[in-house]
Amino acid sequence: MTGGLRVPVALLRRPGVAPREVRTTAVLEGMRIGTVGVDGDEVVIDLEVGASGMDIVASGKVDVDWTGECRRCLEPVCGHLRIDVREVFRSDDADAGDTYPLESDAGEDCIDVGAVARDAVLLALPLSPLCGDDCAGPDPERFPAMPVEEVGPEGEAAEPERDPRWAVLDALREPGDEG
Ligand SMILES: [Zn+2]
Repeated sequence: MTGGLRVPVALLRRPGVAPREVRTTAVLEGMRIGTVGVDGDEVVIDLEVGASGMDIVASGKVDVDWTGECRRCLEPVCGHLRIDVREVFRSDDADAGDTYPLESDAGEDCIDVGAVARDAVLLALPLSPLCGDDCAGPDPERFPAMPVEEVGPEGEAAEPERDPRWAVLDALREPGDEG
């Protein structure tokens, strides 16, 4: 949880109260999927938070810069995302569905715009970016960067060689000790 991005909403439910603008730049945790991560975990939030009946609706934009690795040539790739957001917050657990829960802060209903921003960004980050549509770099599936494990001599089970340090532990072990 982010904690610092809670917006109290009780006031917004009063008649005639205009929606509240929430414009902030926040550093959120875990803004990474695979090799693609948000620069500095920094998310620019520009949301309007208003009431719709007893629901609270947060809508607007979330912006991030991201950096990752081209899936073909493994060179760095970067980009910018501007994500449209519209999420509903509802206190009724039974009807959670696609809504976010209303939280309570000192007895007052509030919403966590950080959670909304984080979810929106993680869904939108490219999973396997390309540096360009025409990237012809080595395909990691055909040319693995990691060496292929050597197969032992024929007929022998390819048992990985034991770390010699384990022998010391073996010597310390009581005879008949399973393990
Ligand atoms: Zn590439």
